[in-house]
Amino acid sequence: MTAPLKIAFLGLGVMGGPMAGHLARAGHAVTLWNRTSAKAAARAEALAQEGFAVRVAATAAEAAEGQDAVLTCVGNDDDLAQVVLGPAGALAAMTPGALFVDHTTVSAEIARRIAGEAARLGLLAVDAPVSGGQAGAESGKLSIMCGGEADAIVAAVPVMQAYAARIVHVGGAGAGQTTKAVNQICIAGVLQSLSEAIRFGQAAGLDMERVLEAVSGGAAQSWQMVNRWQTMAAGEFDFGFAVDWMRKDLGIALAEAKALGVDLPVTGLIDSYYAEVQAMGGGRQDTSALIRRLPEGAGK
Ligand code: NAP
Repeated sequence: MTAPLKIAFLGLGVMGGPMAGHLARAGHAVTLWNRTSAKAAARAEALAQEGFAVRVAATAAEAAEGQDAVLTCVGNDDDLAQVVLGPAGALAAMTPGALFVDHTTVSAEIARRIAGEAARLGLLAVDAPVSGGQAGAESGKLSIMCGGEADAIVAAVPVMQAYAARIVHVGGAGAGQTTKAVNQICIAGVLQSLSEAIRFGQAAGLDMERVLEAVSGGAAQSWQMVNRWQTMAAGEFDFGFAVDWMRKDLGIALAEAKALGVDLPVTGLIDSYYAEVQAMGGGRQDTSALIRRLPEGAGK
């Protein structure tokens, strides 16, 4: 275990809450802050029941003051800017030499802006979006893709090991976020293919459990297939990563692709399909709800 540090975690949602819990269990002196304060109080109470005392702060700046490291996991670019930047933001309250790590999925542009502001304040900064979903956050087995200077990554790795199965330093500031966009581009097409395959198999009258057994050991296998096939076939979509978040992420990928002059035709199409799922009321359902817009076939 790494030497105990003073760490503040800002943003205790589906992902941030369990990640903060792992930091407390790893022996760090943890301070919690969440916009809706009841969530921070509930998390602190649950950790106290486990025997880990954590402090709850009233504001992001108060939480950040005097810490060795400040970590965030909020919603989108605007949310992150509100919590971190400006005179009342977390960065301005931090002690020079301290570490800032952001786990939110945001644009590479704001990650670079934050890195610039951190450098101006004498802070270390890492953009560190995660993959692995709610289950990965709860089990402490997230994959983390990092952007930043080498000294910041060296400081961040022992902290993040409390909830990571894999940590990769991809490149300079923003490279973690650009890698997360790559990740989301990969997932979008796979989920649409799985949706089509399930509807096709169902219409043909196949036993979908047997089909899964047959195809999941071969070249068609994917994380989405192994973890979502059965629930998609059953019409269950309550597994963490929300369609609303996916639209945010695909928007980031599509904007970045446009700036790079890269065509992402399938990603653009799937983004429009997710807009349909939102219009069907599925914004807070998980991304496998993509199958909802495909009607079941009549069969023969
Ligand atoms: P969530 O459960 O909706 O939690 C969002 C958190 O951000 C809450 O603590 C919320 O506070 C806080 N927040 C939002 N806007 C804020 C603002 N303007 N000021 C202060 N706090 C604000 O979301 P999540 O699923 O944990 O996702 C968090 C981030 O991780 C997103 O960027 C998402 O794309 C990414 N991510 C999620 C998953 C997943 O499976 N869920 C996987 C990988 C990456 P309140 O409690 O006050 O609303």
